[in-house]
Amino acid sequence: MKNALNTSEKSNHKELKRKILELSNSNDWDSALLEWKVYEIYKLDDWNDNETCLCGHYPIRNICILKNVDNNNTTLVWNICVNQFISEEPNKVFTSFERISSDLKSWPCPELIKLAHNKWVINDWEHDFAISRYNKKRHSEKQINRRIIINRKILQCLKKTIS
Ligand SMILES: [Zn+2]
Repeated sequence: MKNALNTSEKSNHKELKRKILELSNSNDWDSALLEWKVYEIYKLDDWNDNETCLCGHYPIRNICILKNVDNNNTTLVWNICVNQFISEEPNKVFTSFERISSDLKSWPCPELIKLAHNKWVINDWEHDFAISRYNKKRHSEKQINRRIIINRKILQCLKKTIS
């Protein structure tokens, strides 16, 4: 499947730690991690070149920009690497995004719904509807059609917005 996530791929942990520490104020790994927040996540469009993760992994197309809140350093990391030490959220978002891409009737995860709402890709009502229907087993045809409309919008939310 095109663009499928391959979570079994190994990232270079040691190299990633070394580079993150270089960009952090703290020399201690555990406290250095506290300096980093996920700043932006996006998926490269077909016409974008591949990127390289901070750890050296290439090619990557699911991008997380991390920002150090203490010194304002930013860095570009693969979602699989972010998942291992800073936050599972981007990985959940990308996985859910892939699922919707291949099946518009599937439910977006709450993390993806919130991201789409934060970017105003979906409005308050659509956000509340998607959150309230999440994990419900039975849906009317009308609700499924509504979900498809919302999912089409959500598929816009991983476009790159920063340069
Ligand atoms: Zn990496």
